[in-house]
Amino acid sequence: MVDLNKLKPMDRRNFLKRGIQSGAVLVSLPLWKNMAWGDPAALLDGDAAAFLSKEDLRKLLEAALSKGGDFAEVYFEHTVQNNISLDEAKISTATRGLDMGAGFRVIKGEKTGYAFSDDLDPAKLKEAALTAALIADGRVSAAPQKFKPLAPPSFYLVETAPDGVAAKLKADLLLKANASGRGFDKRITQFRAGFSDMTKRIAIANSEGLYAEDTQTLTSLITTALALEGKQRSMGYESKAGAFGFEHFDVKLAEEFGRKAADMAVRNLPAEDAPAGEFPIVIARGYGGVFFHEAIGHSLEADGIRKKTAVFWDKLGKPIATPGVTLLDDGTYKGGWGTVNVDDEGQPGRKTVLIDKGKCAAFIQDKLSAGLMKMERTGNGRRQSFRFHPIPRMTNTYLLPGESDPGDIVKSIDKGLFIAKIGGGNVDTTTGRFVFSVTEGSMIEGGKVTKPLKGIMLMGSGQDVLKNISMVGNDLLIIGGGTCGKDGQGKPVGFGNPTLKVDKITVGGQRA
Ligand SMILES: [Zn+2]
Repeated sequence: MVDLNKLKPMDRRNFLKRGIQSGAVLVSLPLWKNMAWGDPAALLDGDAAAFLSKEDLRKLLEAALSKGGDFAEVYFEHTVQNNISLDEAKISTATRGLDMGAGFRVIKGEKTGYAFSDDLDPAKLKEAALTAALIADGRVSAAPQKFKPLAPPSFYLVETAPDGVAAKLKADLLLKANASGRGFDKRITQFRAGFSDMTKRIAIANSEGLYAEDTQTLTSLITTALALEGKQRSMGYESKAGAFGFEHFDVKLAEEFGRKAADMAVRNLPAEDAPAGEFPIVIARGYGGVFFHEAIGHSLEADGIRKKTAVFWDKLGKPIATPGVTLLDDGTYKGGWGTVNVDDEGQPGRKTVLIDKGKCAAFIQDKLSAGLMKMERTGNGRRQSFRFHPIPRMTNTYLLPGESDPGDIVKSIDKGLFIAKIGGGNVDTTTGRFVFSVTEGSMIEGGKVTKPLKGIMLMGSGQDVLKNISMVGNDLLIIGGGTCGKDGQGKPVGFGNPTLKVDKITVGGQRA
């Protein structure tokens, strides 16, 4: 533990010494009021060049290639994360964390060697580079090429870096949200809110001459409310999350989010147990995106495709969905929660059509899989941190809008379910089978959304759902805030969809 109040600006040497002593630093201060940061800029301003010169990087790449690897890469990361949360009408936690280190990857054929160090001492870095090198066991076959720095366009919407904003201003948003949420209805018995921001500075250099730097800022505000009436209880939430500066958040928005969370909780108080069986459903815009991410997107990731374990491995160019379905993965969506100027392999972010009017059009690629499959890279090589090697991951995955009016989609159903918000789900990518839990849903009766339901589960296979999408609305909404888990790595991803009709899906509910 380090008390940030006592930190003075440090020169590089002292900084490295402290880094060596403490490794990853997590600072946890329960009393946000006492946070006078002084001038932590010297510690927290993680400019890669201040730690590792291009000459240092070249030498490390040489060491990584010293056993005859085909390819070597250094990934430097410096991340600062701030979290403030409110519970029981008070600021309950305020934390500030710093994490820093470098990861080394060596590829030889299909094999990957990976090692990292959270200690930037030159000897420790070299040791890590040599460890990754051990995947190969020959002699040096190639020297690293001269760096050609990359300058991709920026898709982040950041004017005021949130890391530089006083904790008090962030705390104020939570207090205002709490006041409006609790004030909304006396049946609101619990209210929570959180504000988080992460600033990740990365530098990537590889033996092919790539050198890329990026500063990734992710900011989120979330409010949750619990309503209680007699024995009925229900939950509501609202959030905003993206590659946003602090200028995207203000008191008015916080108050609105307080009310929206409270309103959702209150309107679901009379919810009845969901019916079980097969029904047509309407998925509201935005929140169905998690379905496409989980049930479809994961099955299009190139590692599973290459190993023939993902259901769509032999479907390239073939129809897998109704013609109204065009699914994109878009790392260039402005301000998206999964947006990347460059991925964690230094590849510029890209917009890739995964399903084109129902046909499987591309896979989600990283360097390794694209190389082995002799396919184009798509800017989807991502990793949780320097402690992990990159794997194919989605960025922002969304379905393009169609032509149907959302109201007409609901009107077309005589008896079915309206799915307003999906909480999360699980999919087995080898079979495509999924289970999703719905956090807000209602009956549709006679073409109208009627009584709220609780305990809705959606079950089936991604392949079947794609073939049952019969109407696509004109009202696309892309949202952020989700964390995707894969191979033990968590990564922020965005998703979206327009209002959709699925002709039949299995609903697991309490009522027979
Ligand atoms: Zn996922």
